[in-house]
Amino acid sequence: MAWVGSLLCRTNAIALTHSQMKRPSVGLVTSASGREGTLDERGPVKMNHHEDDVVVEPLRLRRFDHFPDALLDVAAPDLWLHLEGPSLFHLPGRHAQPLFVSVLLHGNEDSGWRAMQAVLRPHRGKLLPRPLMLFVGNIEAARAGVRTLPVQMDYNRCWPCAEQPVGPEARLMREVFEVARACSPFASIDIHNNTGNNPHYACVNRLAESFLHLARLFSRTVVYFDRPAGVQTAALAEICPAVTVECGIAGGAAGVAHAADFVASALAMSQFPHHPVPQGDLDLLRTFAIVRVPSDATLSYDDSDADFRFRGDLDLLNFSELEPGTSFGFLGHGATRQLDVLPGGDFTTTERYFEYVQREIRLSQRVIPAMLTVDARAVRLDCLGYLMHRIGRDGRRIAA
Ligand SMILES: [Zn+2]
Repeated sequence: MAWVGSLLCRTNAIALTHSQMKRPSVGLVTSASGREGTLDERGPVKMNHHEDDVVVEPLRLRRFDHFPDALLDVAAPDLWLHLEGPSLFHLPGRHAQPLFVSVLLHGNEDSGWRAMQAVLRPHRGKLLPRPLMLFVGNIEAARAGVRTLPVQMDYNRCWPCAEQPVGPEARLMREVFEVARACSPFASIDIHNNTGNNPHYACVNRLAESFLHLARLFSRTVVYFDRPAGVQTAALAEICPAVTVECGIAGGAAGVAHAADFVASALAMSQFPHHPVPQGDLDLLRTFAIVRVPSDATLSYDDSDADFRFRGDLDLLNFSELEPGTSFGFLGHGATRQLDVLPGGDFTTTERYFEYVQREIRLSQRVIPAMLTVDARAVRLDCLGYLMHRIGRDGRRIAA
């Protein structure tokens, strides 16, 4: 498959030692089946971690019927001390239909977890405006501070889809999906971070008004995507309006506050407006191409010699309307290499986006880039960035 990455966060997997992949054998109080867990009155069990005490457990879903106060102050890397693995919390609320929220599908993207702590803190002991289903995903990767462990499938690429992913992670996401479907969610929100200089934006893979209303609640910048397969948003879109929100770089307070406001607003919403989202309220974009550096080519951002010598401020171009001729940097060496430009969706062909004039790498048409990065590791693991165009409600490109 030509698709190599996604606009939804970047790959940042690193190697992990075997001992880091073991988990404590003692955990939260759940029923033997793990199907309907309830924390006991002691709350989460803090575990003493000794190498001799750990065993590798099969991946299974833990379910809880309340959110213990002790979790309100636990940082994502320490969640493994309190939760045995991927956990689904069912919290009661006044309206009938729950809001579904997933966080930490990527372990090093903690804004969603911190945002949910901020949402739940003031509701301690109080009923939420609407029931909440909170799925806390890759606790092991959060412990290691990485997106995904090398032994795992990406937790945001193995949700039910036409390609029918297999493996323990895919089975777990199928179970979460089936539980969610049985609860007829009002809406779904999946919270992520990314690298580089990007605004906060929402992603949808349907252009129905309810999806756009939900996305607009977070940001006027909305990116429509139909690849890759197996993402949470695409799965949940089968049963309710669903968005992914990208909250900038992990660790930023603004991203946490923005995500928390968004979730609180969605919880407080009684229904989606019946009128369409006004055209002027949205910057609707679609990914048309993915830009990769060939795997055997060298690159630099500091003018040192390499096949691709990119400008050091490349990520400052993200989400700007760029004109033809905009420079991405220069070719080095013999100036023999060119960037790989791959289709960003179900397009059979990719237009020409770059020209190479006297070794300079220039855009050859108007485009809006996203997630251009100055992190060479991210380029290697994923791609250089994405090229977008404005689209109408029909998904078609609006002529520049
Ligand atoms: Zn992510």
